[in-house]
Amino acid sequence: RQDEMHATPDSPIKVVVRIRPNDIEEEVDRTVKRISSNELAYGDRKLSFDSVFDSDSKQEDIFQKIGIPLVKDALAGYNTSIMSYGQTGSGKTFTIWGPPSAMVEDPSPSSNQGLAPRIFHLLFSEIQKEQENSEGKLINYQCRCSFIEIFNEQIGDLLDPSQRNLKIRDDAKNGLYVENVTEEYVTSYDDVTQILIKGLSSRKVGATTINSKSSRSHIVFTFIIESWCKETSSKYFGSSKTSRISLVDLAGLDRNVNDAMGRQSTREGKNLKKSMSRLGHLIDMLTKENELRTSDDRLYRGSCLTHLLRESLGGNAKLTVICAVSLHSSYSGETLRTLRFGQRLK
Ligand code: ADP
Ligand code: MG
Repeated sequence: RQDEMHATPDSPIKVVVRIRPNDIEEEVDRTVKRISSNELAYGDRKLSFDSVFDSDSKQEDIFQKIGIPLVKDALAGYNTSIMSYGQTGSGKTFTIWGPPSAMVEDPSPSSNQGLAPRIFHLLFSEIQKEQENSEGKLINYQCRCSFIEIFNEQIGDLLDPSQRNLKIRDDAKNGLYVENVTEEYVTSYDDVTQILIKGLSSRKVGATTINSKSSRSHIVFTFIIESWCKETSSKYFGSSKTSRISLVDLAGLDRNVNDAMGRQSTREGKNLKKSMSRLGHLIDMLTKENELRTSDDRLYRGSCLTHLLRESLGGNAKLTVICAVSLHSSYSGETLRTLRFGQRLK
């Protein structure tokens, strides 16, 4: 079993753990301890992942390990996704987007800027490099993005908050898409960061507590890259590639989510539970197949999130799951559940 837990180098699913720093370090009775670059100890158990980031890890470290390979894969034509999983307050949002105030900076190793802006900074600089070195070829890129929230099995448009109940359509001609969702065409890093800031500010923010709405919704940023390439001298159309990057900040995996929400919200609680369990089941099945591809459409049905992810996880796809955990021993139950979820995928 120990050996099985080691990731294969180019497995399509990668699982990393990030331990968030504690506000008051002295008071911590550590429930998890990083023991190497890919192992941690939980009690007397030793668990291994693709990477383990300790509480002193920097946003730049995560970018180096996850962001740079993602950009390479995306430009090579893979569908790539990152998902952050864990209880409320464990650092999911911080890791993926970082503080909005750090969004517009140029990336620097010491900045708190999140994974998303760093990824798009690199992506656009790679595109520019490729176009500058394209002697004898015409290379054209078109990028567009959308940003949605899934709350109580309803899809809201974070770029147009008046649209609160968008429908997923699935037809032979257009494939799977969210009807009427705002799609913004972007040509630069600045364009993307403006959109991220706008979308994140429409998510119901407020306090990061178990009963705030922001901890009970999933948000999904989808970035689609289409490129065409042809020999300048050729009269043929050349070749084209499409890939998508999906960044998913999941709802909090919280113990007493039903109690915290009160009685009138039990339906919402049930929907959230169903959504999380469909996701777990889907990823389990994909892991068993050992490739992110299955023709069985039923796997993706049953929740908005998994349905939407069919486009991202089907085909030539790679997924990184970030398990975010806190050091507080009072949350050891949630920490264990998060780590178990991660282990199931290995
Ligand atoms: P979640 O999205 O999982 O509910 P957040 O990302 O909102 O959690 O993190 C909760 C709080 O902890 C935020 O104030 C965030 O800025 C802070 N935080 C989380 N991770 C880190 C970290 N690695 N370094 C510094 N602050 C962090
Ligand atoms: Mg969050």
